[in-house]
Amino acid sequence: MADTVEKNLWREVLKLAGSEIEQKEFDTWLQPTRLASVEDSNLLVEVPNGLYKDFINEQYTSILNEKASILMGRKAFVKVVEATSQSELFNRDRKGKEQARGGEPVNRETPTRLNREYTFETFVIGKSNQFCAAAAQAVAENPGKRYNPLFIYGSVGLGKTHLMQAIGHRLMKKDKSIRFSYLSADQFMNEMINAIKNNRPDAFRRKYRTADILLVDDIQYIAGKEGTQEEFFHTFNAVFEAGKQIVISSDRAPKDLAPIEERLRNRFEWGLIADIQAPDYETRMAIIGKKAETLGLDLPRNVADIIATRITTNIRAIEGALSKLHALIALTGGSLTAETVNKVLTEFIPEDSRQPTSIEKIQELVANYYGISKRDLVSKSRKARLAHARQMAMYLCRTHGGCILADIGAAFGNRDHSTVLHAMKKIEEGIKGNDGKTASEAKDLASKIELFS
Ligand code: ADP
Ligand code: MG
Repeated sequence: MADTVEKNLWREVLKLAGSEIEQKEFDTWLQPTRLASVEDSNLLVEVPNGLYKDFINEQYTSILNEKASILMGRKAFVKVVEATSQSELFNRDRKGKEQARGGEPVNRETPTRLNREYTFETFVIGKSNQFCAAAAQAVAENPGKRYNPLFIYGSVGLGKTHLMQAIGHRLMKKDKSIRFSYLSADQFMNEMINAIKNNRPDAFRRKYRTADILLVDDIQYIAGKEGTQEEFFHTFNAVFEAGKQIVISSDRAPKDLAPIEERLRNRFEWGLIADIQAPDYETRMAIIGKKAETLGLDLPRNVADIIATRITTNIRAIEGALSKLHALIALTGGSLTAETVNKVLTEFIPEDSRQPTSIEKIQELVANYYGISKRDLVSKSRKARLAHARQMAMYLCRTHGGCILADIGAAFGNRDHSTVLHAMKKIEEGIKGNDGKTASEAKDLASKIELFS
């Protein structure tokens, strides 16, 4: 039996994976699992029987491996085995099923595909998303009326799916029997292909054309897919003409969807188009605060600030970083140093957006550090204090900003590259020298720069 630390690890793996798996499937297949042991990079996980083993191996290994690797900070593998002592797992499993049977009525025609966390209550509103959130709320209050269809667009990880599903939750709460369909455009396409293959296109059509509310996520997938567009066009018309609400999300505006049939684009523009932007700093801080609270994580303000400063364009990445920090605290029982936080964050910032710190940023940091103005820093003054700061800034632009000599020279009062080389030499000598002062200044500043890159 795994010890507490290991159990925590598995719980965190399930939590991360669970946010990407439909709740019903999660409850059926992953809830009745137990971590038996961890050996090197292998997590041995027990399941009630062979059926679970096959199904998990087929459907969930890659997501479980991915989440375990994130949490363990190295490549990890989940190995599923049948439990030797099965009573506990079986009982839990049976209990789960009984609860499902005795629980709320489930509309079998339109299975619930909503993530339970994606509600209006958990959605933090800021400048960047307030228009979109207001539109979503208006739709949830008065479906099929003024804002039909509602077309939400914006880049990845900014809350489009969350808002769409919040509409679904709100409407379900008002009327449990509502027939809603939430699906992504590629699911729509796959289901359509299967229906045609199995000679059951009518059932497919009935299912979506009779929805009370149709939520279609990531519509950009149907660009270039003519057959799917044709089918979707008719679905759209049927739902719309019945006075039912349609909500569509996309990573770009209707006018930028291509290639797509004009009549379909046209329909997307009939109702309200709402875009969602990357959150500003205050909104990021508010989101971090809310997520930390949900996780039961006592996050110091300076740590929240580092996260909000470094992850700026994707809220999903902010969540990933928080889950990992949470797991790290649970696993190590230790407190978080700025260094640990930075290391974790680096994993959640996409390579291509990890730009070297700009010369300007380094100049600003160095000027602040030495308590001088940026103008003095780039001036021609030969005062020792200023010259030292200037040389340090040039050195850091080269070593930590990855900037080329000519650009550095130009940014420091139009000096040529030999001045930069001279500055590098002076600072390198200073670092090797025996007073230790230059070395510690360089180290301090380097860590500040890393914090901002
Ligand atoms: P998208 O569909 O735009 O790619 P999602 O809706 O999947 O993005 O959002 C990514 C994650 O960020 C989700 O877990 C979501 O709950 C969270 N999120 C996004 N915006 C907000 C917000 N304003 N407040 C709270 N959580 C948010
Ligand atoms: Mg989405």
